[in-house]
Amino acid sequence: MSATWTNYGGNITATPHAIVEPKSLDDLRKIVEKARAEGRTVRGVGDGHSFSSVAVTDGYLVRTQSYGLPLPLMPLRPDVNSSNLVHVEAGMTIRTCIDTLRKMIPPKGLHNMGSYTGQALIGAISTGTHGSGWKLGPLANAVRSVTMVAGDGKAYRIEPTNGISDPGGVPDDITLIQEDTVFDGVVIAMGSLGLVYSLVLDVRDDYALVERRQVSTWNTVRPILHTGHDMFTKFRHQEVLINPYETDGHHTAVITSRRERIPSDDLDVQANRENPWQVIANLLPWHAMNVIATLMKSDASTIPGFLDSGLRTLKGMFGSRYDAVLSLGIDAVDGYASEVAVPFESTADAVDIIIDEAKTYRSEAPNESVAWRYYLTSPFSLRFVAPSSQMMAPQYDRLTTMIEIPCVSFPGTGVTVESVRLLNRIHRRLINDVGARLHWGLEFDALTAQDISTMYPRYNEWLAIRERFDPDRVFENRWSSRVLFGGSGSVISGG
Ligand SMILES: Cc1cc2nc3c(=O)[nH]c(=O)nc-3n(C[C@H](O)[C@H](O)[C@H](O)COP(=O)(O)OP(=O)(O)OC[C@H]3O[C@@H](n4cnc5c(N)ncnc54)[C@H](O)[C@@H]3O)c2cc1C
Repeated sequence: MSATWTNYGGNITATPHAIVEPKSLDDLRKIVEKARAEGRTVRGVGDGHSFSSVAVTDGYLVRTQSYGLPLPLMPLRPDVNSSNLVHVEAGMTIRTCIDTLRKMIPPKGLHNMGSYTGQALIGAISTGTHGSGWKLGPLANAVRSVTMVAGDGKAYRIEPTNGISDPGGVPDDITLIQEDTVFDGVVIAMGSLGLVYSLVLDVRDDYALVERRQVSTWNTVRPILHTGHDMFTKFRHQEVLINPYETDGHHTAVITSRRERIPSDDLDVQANRENPWQVIANLLPWHAMNVIATLMKSDASTIPGFLDSGLRTLKGMFGSRYDAVLSLGIDAVDGYASEVAVPFESTADAVDIIIDEAKTYRSEAPNESVAWRYYLTSPFSLRFVAPSSQMMAPQYDRLTTMIEIPCVSFPGTGVTVESVRLLNRIHRRLINDVGARLHWGLEFDALTAQDISTMYPRYNEWLAIRERFDPDRVFENRWSSRVLFGGSGSVISGG
């Protein structure tokens, strides 16, 4: 009955007892009851887009994408305005959610999104997935209500104090909990508190964005990294890409800023991204063109120059619907990334640490033929994210710069041991020197239980919530047992 499961990046495999495809809340209850009766564990799995082992399981692997339909809104308190609320099954992908919202009358949209749309909503939300915009929180900040099956096999609807649901309108087989302290623990819970069935999301009217990308240098960007600067006050979204290596005496950077435009069908900005070089450059952080990969491999000293060329071709303007502007627009990804959450005010120090580690590490290559393995093979990016009240959010309680460090996946090689070692070295320095937290889905098993207790000031409160919803450890996996609860169990492999 057991089957092999591999994550999207191919660096994690597991042999679950069984892979199940539930269709309803009742199916989820039955899976938990069955697992309990057999003494097995259960794990919800989205699209497997995490590079950490957050989603592995030896027990029942629940394919969340088997339930992803829109649902009617439940009865709401009389004072709640429902015009921007939608109720959806939690396995709906971000792509389907965007398309579903756009078909509404009037058309609706997400407040923000990351650079990819293939993830299941709950898969993305529960790891703290985010986009960029210093007034925009992670996706989890849009959640108003969560319906999930806990370790006792019962269904709970969990909302903030004075939440949206009318207590009188909740079905008998769902227990309503409206408490801030519980809600702030369950939305970002990395699959460790229960199987989430549905979500109510706060959305907005559909919109369009105009994006402007300017080539600059890290030395020019450094002094503008404060919230009073025009880049932060005048634009809805801001992002910075940086070449980790020096070329011509500086580190090339690209500043991206985006303004909102309404209505979404009235766009006059040409899509510069249609230029083929621009497309290549846009994809460079994720997409390894074989030819570039081959050149980088044969002479690693060309890597900084390639990164520079890629960055320079990004210059220009692009206007379209928000999802076309914010997403990379690709279906497949030949790359992997780690992501670090640093306090906004420590951004410059964090960038200097990454540059320093990248420089030191490449000098440690034992010989020319393997030198490429000792390089970062993509520019890294700074994305700015508003604080979240979710107690296990990487962005908890602070304006955060999320620093994404992607690597190209060289053909036939996949995730390399050397690159993971470099990423983990960077993680460790950023944790120690600037109080970084790590993205739950993009941390390459660098985290330890000791890190968590110092990174998350409300960790003990969260453990108490876990005791309430999963006292028998039905949702535990090797990752949570090591990272969240102090046991052992890395499953990361590298080529
Ligand atoms: C190409 C690519 C682009 C990315 N872009 C971004 C980005 O722009 N911003 C960003 O922040 N991150 C980004 N990421 C990271 C990604 O968003 C996260 O790793 C996300 O968690 C993956 O979602 P998934 O649906 O694949 O979930 P999985 O990786 O399968 O699972 C993630 C977590 O969700 C839990 N889960 C799944 N289903 C349920 C359920 N029903 N109930 C409870 N818990 C459940 C799992 O147990 C696990 O802990 C990107 C990753 C890739 C590969």
